[in-house]
Amino acid sequence: MIKFEAVVGMECHAELLTESKMFCGCANDFGGASNTRTCPVCLGLPGSLPVANRIAVELVVKAALALNCEIARDCRFARKNYFYPDLPKGYQISQYEDPIGQNGWLDITMADGAIKRVHIRRVHLEEDTGKLIHAGGNESEVDYNRSGVPLMEIVTEFPPDITTPSEAKAYIEKLRAILVYLGVCDGKMEEGHLRAEPNVSIRPVGSDKHGVKTELKNLNSFRAVERGIAYELERQADMIEHGVIVRQETLGWNDATGKTYHMRFKEEEQEYRYFPEPDLAPLHFEDDEVSQWRAELPELPDAKRERFVSQYDLRPYDAEVLTGSRAVADYFETATRCGADPKAVANYVTGDLMRLVNASAGDISQIKILPDELANLLKLRESGRITNNIAKSILEEMFVSGKGAQEIVDARGISVVSDEGALTTHIDQVLSANPDVVAKIRAGNDKSIGFLVGQVMKATKGQARPDLLNKLLKERIG
Ligand SMILES: [Zn+2]
Repeated sequence: MIKFEAVVGMECHAELLTESKMFCGCANDFGGASNTRTCPVCLGLPGSLPVANRIAVELVVKAALALNCEIARDCRFARKNYFYPDLPKGYQISQYEDPIGQNGWLDITMADGAIKRVHIRRVHLEEDTGKLIHAGGNESEVDYNRSGVPLMEIVTEFPPDITTPSEAKAYIEKLRAILVYLGVCDGKMEEGHLRAEPNVSIRPVGSDKHGVKTELKNLNSFRAVERGIAYELERQADMIEHGVIVRQETLGWNDATGKTYHMRFKEEEQEYRYFPEPDLAPLHFEDDEVSQWRAELPELPDAKRERFVSQYDLRPYDAEVLTGSRAVADYFETATRCGADPKAVANYVTGDLMRLVNASAGDISQIKILPDELANLLKLRESGRITNNIAKSILEEMFVSGKGAQEIVDARGISVVSDEGALTTHIDQVLSANPDVVAKIRAGNDKSIGFLVGQVMKATKGQARPDLLNKLLKERIG
């Protein structure tokens, strides 16, 4: 059996967060009735002329800078000619020889914590196409609301750096995080605002040859990227082992069956007859302008992760999880600024809170627990007024009801047993009921203390102050 590895190039398309479309004044929005956001320009009617959206250009330059690209000082748009019903002009305005950004990179963190650099060949600006809606039977509708929406394409370098499905997933996660941090794209893959198209070939591990590539179209989740590539790796290896020739083809991905399916063969590279777009002036950037944009870049995920480790003394893994999303990182920092212990906040945000958010399929920026209320909950716990278990159950109630931590503590009548006398009574009862355990501990078996702590907690309905309980228990056993 030959062992194969995948070789994965990634093409990603990101819709830009502008108010209007790329070359006209129509709103850049999602949803709504078909063909309600169109005009002669984005419908490609004869005689209409495009005007480039200045904000879209700025967003692409900023994204290219954040991806460590060289920025072209002079570049232009090009026509990419092909016919398809979702493209009313018969060509797409894109960039060909002179993309805005080239020769960039981003770093991904792999499962073992090592960093891998993924090189980026180009970042360019183009316009999106309309959308075909297959209504069933012989009917299809075309909706041009998306026609002319500003689109950024990010293409990785050849030969590709990515060789496993999980690296591809890490790449798209990191790319999405950077674009969302920048405010360039909302990153909503499920709505098609960020789409990944990996091309996959395989080769025996250790070889530097490149096999025939297949291309997976429009993957719209991190999981689909990882699963789609894993499936292709296995499918192609199986073909090669059975002497079947892998053909260059475009594949769709069915999330339900977990399989790719054939869309069309690519016998040869399509001839797009690119030529410079005559209706748009070339773009020119002054050095000052580029420097200004560079200065305006926000703190990006890698820098924030490093800072979280040094400033809050977090474990690198926790810092990685927290900074994977700008909303989560902001939530963590706001709660920390409200006076809660950073490590406790990190534990709760990456643990119990994240679990609740994921289970509700929501977003941390929209939950009912505001960061200052999480801080209040953690301060109650730090002060010993509630135990960790009670804090967790209060967190769940806060998540559902949006009530404050103190309000819930008052309503439940939770009062921690922090009175030494009351606690000692419970402890003595537990000790006299378990003489064998006490004997074990006195003989040096410290682990059995946990059992006694559990018994006292049970007797106090989980309301004993943990630090005091441990101290008193040790004193009584001697
Ligand atoms: Zn329009």
